[in-house]
Amino acid sequence: MSQDLCDARSQSPITPVQLGLDDSFQFACHRGIACFNKCCESIDIQLTPYDILRLKTRLQLSAREFLFRHTVPFEMDAHGVPGLKLRTAEESTRCQFLTDQGCGVYEDRPTACRYYALGLMSMRKKDSPVDEDAYFIVKEDHCLGHHEPHTQTVRAYRESQGVDLYDDMNRQWRQVILKKRSCGPTIGKPSDRSLQLFFLASYDLDGFRDFIAAPSFDEVYEVAPQEREQLMRDDVALMHFAFRFLKQSLFGENTIPERPGAVEKRLARRSQRTAEGASETAG
Ligand code: SF4
Ligand code: SF4
Repeated sequence: MSQDLCDARSQSPITPVQLGLDDSFQFACHRGIACFNKCCESIDIQLTPYDILRLKTRLQLSAREFLFRHTVPFEMDAHGVPGLKLRTAEESTRCQFLTDQGCGVYEDRPTACRYYALGLMSMRKKDSPVDEDAYFIVKEDHCLGHHEPHTQTVRAYRESQGVDLYDDMNRQWRQVILKKRSCGPTIGKPSDRSLQLFFLASYDLDGFRDFIAAPSFDEVYEVAPQEREQLMRDDVALMHFAFRFLKQSLFGENTIPERPGAVEKRLARRSQRTAEGASETAG
């Protein structure tokens, strides 16, 4: 099973037929099929923020512990925007969560597992405010589901796999990635600090919670006490706030009020600290 939900064109087993939501395709997967579990024996699965939220909650791990135990990092583009993939079992290509009975985390399986055997390609044309989605059939030789006598629309398949909720949850995050890609060289390589913040806000929710609880965040951003209290206890609310923060810090789409003059003061303090450090080194 191999899925990059943002750019399906790179996947070789994809048949070059573009499907819309109301187009039909032939496919069925069920426990009695001869290839049961085959698709989870060789995986290459990119994780989204909501995938991580669901899996870490199910496994009762902190985000950091989940990342350490169950993910491997990769770079999503030439600028080093960080991505995460699901870690395979030790010295194997199998998914860590695969059991003889099937997926061991089925109710909380990642978005890519839900989409299979469909591929999704989301695009945003330059200067367009909206994303366009297209679907493709992913046909791998080991998967016998394509020979089953069952036809459904893309819409019905998405519904049966619970994809809609996952896509809704990740929508703002995908918009950040698509905007970064569609802006291409015009915004250039993000700073190391921006890349770190992208990782924190995308994948390490507990670290992001510590980040917004720190006095330095409060110095710059005005978050109402009621909202702050919700962010401290509600992971989904925190994830959506993290996406707003990313849009604000990467693209200047301001939705979190900033205290007047706070950014300038912080930058001035940072330059002063840098200058002091330089003069100490020189001395
Ligand atoms: S999470 Fe479940 S469905 Fe996805 S690859 Fe692993 S075992 Fe298969
Ligand atoms: S039909 Fe395809 S998706 Fe279903 S178990 Fe077999 S290989 Fe996996």
